[in-house]
Amino acid sequence: MGKQLPFHMSCRVFTTLLAGLLLLCASTASLAVVVHDARLWRAPDHTRLVFDISGAAEHSLFTLENPDRLVVDISNIHLSTNLDKLDFKGTPISSIRSAQRNGKDLRIVLDLSKPVKPRSFPLKANEKYGDRLVVDLYDLEPDKEKTVADVVTSKDKKRQIVIGIDAGHGGEDPGAIGPNGIYEKRVVMAISQELKRLADRESGFRGVLIRSGDYYIPLRKRTDIARENRVDLFVSIHADAFKNPAARGASVFALSPGGATSETARYLAERENSADLIGGVGSVRISDKDKVLAGVLLDLSMTATLNSSLDVGKEVLGQMGGMARLHKRHVEQAGFLVLKSPDIPSILVETGFISNPTEARQLADSAYQRQMAEAIFTGIKRYFYNRPPPGTWVASNSGGSGSGQVYVIAHGDTLSGIAARHNVSVDALVRHNDMNSTTIRVGQRIKIPST
Ligand SMILES: [Zn+2]
Repeated sequence: MGKQLPFHMSCRVFTTLLAGLLLLCASTASLAVVVHDARLWRAPDHTRLVFDISGAAEHSLFTLENPDRLVVDISNIHLSTNLDKLDFKGTPISSIRSAQRNGKDLRIVLDLSKPVKPRSFPLKANEKYGDRLVVDLYDLEPDKEKTVADVVTSKDKKRQIVIGIDAGHGGEDPGAIGPNGIYEKRVVMAISQELKRLADRESGFRGVLIRSGDYYIPLRKRTDIARENRVDLFVSIHADAFKNPAARGASVFALSPGGATSETARYLAERENSADLIGGVGSVRISDKDKVLAGVLLDLSMTATLNSSLDVGKEVLGQMGGMARLHKRHVEQAGFLVLKSPDIPSILVETGFISNPTEARQLADSAYQRQMAEAIFTGIKRYFYNRPPPGTWVASNSGGSGSGQVYVIAHGDTLSGIAARHNVSVDALVRHNDMNSTTIRVGQRIKIPST
């Protein structure tokens, strides 16, 4: 046994040496820049591929035909993740390959089922993420959704009021992250889908999801999508976060007048945009020369739009106050980019604080999400029954002339209260609406008999 000792000793020395060598290798490797993860997001018009890299790196792109391929070359980098885990279903990418070149550069080849228009850009590290390289593969023929035709069905049929529902964040942008890893982008998508369901099943309304899946849309693009869909109202759904976990309550925002004013200037600076917008605002068409007139009209339009935004915001806040704690009792105003459409009333709903443990739990609960969507939709409905856009189904079914006014039941309403306010008896209300009982529900429409 004793004789074997020297062998043991040398073996241990060797092992230590080897471990040291490995350690040396590992430390050199950790200094080199690596691709350590990759993600894929599919949007309606493009596919986004995101590479997490451990430091800034130079890159270039080129495409090859027959068969179609996209080649991404990244300098001085190693691959330290498995790209095979990416799921390319529903994308033009059929497979991905990679190879190390001259011992230092990385080449990634995407095999494509059809040609794409690629675009790429680096994203610098921020407090949430490290450095990233983004590769966007734009479809050559985007699947155009039929929109205007859906809205204006036929001449004799009154059009529906279209609600543009914008679930905040998405894809690479999770929004606020709450306790237990609750992502804002998921919560607001669930509420948005519920809101669309409510709008779609209501006569005279239709919901359009601005973001229909888990992908990111730039803020300007969100308002563009709303405009393409001819929405009557734009509602952006979010959940707040604050350093102090005690902060809580829901709130509703409209654009601040300051934001609107500077935006007018911005639109005017971008002439083509401004011309388009004026064209869309009313029947007036203005040539590029009439800048002052364009400015005045745009200002008028923005003021009218802002007033509408505040009115609808007030209705929504009022309904949310019936089911959730409110952060502020009035509609707040701020320069949110998504609220800056000069021709579309727009509000931003903060459904609660995802950074507050209690509210994070509520926001993750599907029953609460449904209640929240119902409150928002009742507010929207009340606004549109008060001021129906001409030519809509709601306009011709909101009473007004002769047939008596239509009233949308708000949170806290009682039949006797409604009757008293409209100078009619409860009995008359029940008879006029063929009601079986005096029970009413929030969001229900009842006709007020004309006295
Ligand atoms: Zn948000």
